[in-house]
Amino acid sequence: MGPPLDELVGALPADAVVTDPVLVENYRYDWARDPGAGVPLAVVRPRNTGEVQVAMRWASAHRIPVVPRGAGSGLSGGSSAVDGGIVLSLDRMRDILIDPDCRVAIVEPGALNAAVKAAAREYGLWYPPDPSSFELCSIGGNIATNAGGLCCVKYGVTTDYVLGLDLVLADGTAISLGGPRLKDVAGLSLLKLFVGSEGTLAVVTRAVLRLVPAQLPASTMVASFPTVAAAAEAVVSITRAMRPAMLELMDSASINAVEDYASMGLDRRAGALLLGQSDAGGGASAEVARMAELCEAAGAGDVFRTDDPAEGEAFAVARRAAFPAIEKRGSILLEDVGVPIPKLPALLTGIEAIAARTGVEIPVVAHAGDGNTHPIVVYDITDPDSAARARTAFDEVMRLAISLGGTITGEHGVGRLKKAHLPDQLGPDVMALTRRIKDALDPLGILNPGAVL
Ligand SMILES: Cc1cc2nc3c(=O)[nH]c(=O)nc-3n(C[C@H](O)[C@H](O)[C@H](O)COP(=O)(O)OP(=O)(O)OC[C@H]3O[C@@H](n4cnc5c(N)ncnc54)[C@H](O)[C@@H]3O)c2cc1C
Repeated sequence: MGPPLDELVGALPADAVVTDPVLVENYRYDWARDPGAGVPLAVVRPRNTGEVQVAMRWASAHRIPVVPRGAGSGLSGGSSAVDGGIVLSLDRMRDILIDPDCRVAIVEPGALNAAVKAAAREYGLWYPPDPSSFELCSIGGNIATNAGGLCCVKYGVTTDYVLGLDLVLADGTAISLGGPRLKDVAGLSLLKLFVGSEGTLAVVTRAVLRLVPAQLPASTMVASFPTVAAAAEAVVSITRAMRPAMLELMDSASINAVEDYASMGLDRRAGALLLGQSDAGGGASAEVARMAELCEAAGAGDVFRTDDPAEGEAFAVARRAAFPAIEKRGSILLEDVGVPIPKLPALLTGIEAIAARTGVEIPVVAHAGDGNTHPIVVYDITDPDSAARARTAFDEVMRLAISLGGTITGEHGVGRLKKAHLPDQLGPDVMALTRRIKDALDPLGILNPGAVL
């Protein structure tokens, strides 16, 4: 006998439980298209915290796996559906309220990152975390992955802006942590435990997000380097000297992929480009000039500078186009390994060596100022040999990052695609502690089973 789905259907509004296989198909995969994604019983689309509680109580009573889902733009298979489970999609909970006096946004999890930015802008405020996918991804997904982005090198990542969370635990209990308070050290720092927990510990149903005054207009520089190693050396010297508002790297393969996709005026002959920005008000132009000098000292050829924010944004758009552009070249395995900044040259040259050894193409774009890189392994899915070599390269890149004191994931999360490497980074004692925390919060193991652990 299957699980009593009728009981759930009866307990929720008529349109909240979707079982039509054609519609369900839209909720099975995230952007990574994990081939291991299962076929769920249903997609549940609650409108409020109470409905999330109903779903979790039902799932707990019948031990049904639950995969929380935001907008499905994840890159690690974190929201891949599970056979016989439900997908709990928060895409209908999108309310946003701005409190300009407390300088916070009170946001439901399905609101897109771009919508929060737009709502804050109406009050002259700014929500900084800016994943390249900001127009596609939800705040719930950003919190669950602790998303980073382009301006995080100066402004920090998602967790730095989460002041409060409403959560529904695996057994349906609703809790509130934190609130619109800038300082609060009462009790254990539980709030931060849930940021980055990838849907394995609780469902986020509301967030209180810190806002800051609107960003000042940025000055921009784009420097061309003969090699990736020279560009990486420039990153080391720039970050030693200042905190740029953006410091992104594109290697030759990614530059050419973007130019093939949509001609954006990037220098196709460059071995690598660095895109740097300063938003230091009256000092922005001088800061960018200093960045340019440091690039030249590291071997840059052409360095272009502009104080026109629109011209600068055009380069950021080109950088954000890199993933879709590279996806046009074949199937991809996308990584987000990170290292301490001084190890960036070793990581980037090591990735080049892995590409040469395995015979696959690995274009790289990077939030270089954070030491966070995106090697993108491109392969031919119809050719088993190419797929096997891609898998070898994917694994070797993670091993290389760990050997340099780095991480297998700087911002996308472990999900399902990187979890085999997590014990190598964390070690047995930290893995055991992580499992004890998971067991304490989700003793039946129904929340996002198969992800992370
Ligand atoms: C073109 C492109 C560019 C990208 N660039 C960046 C980038 O610069 N920086 C970056 O960090 N990421 C980037 N990403 C990855 C992705 O957009 C982020 O990981 C994002 O945070 C995922 O949000 P989502 O709403 O799509 O979540 P989903 O993909 O739906 O889910 C991601 C994870 O969060 C969990 N989850 C979602 N909602 C909730 C909730 N309400 N409660 C509990 N758990 C939940 C899911 O179970 C899953 O584990 C990019 C993706 C694409 C496609």
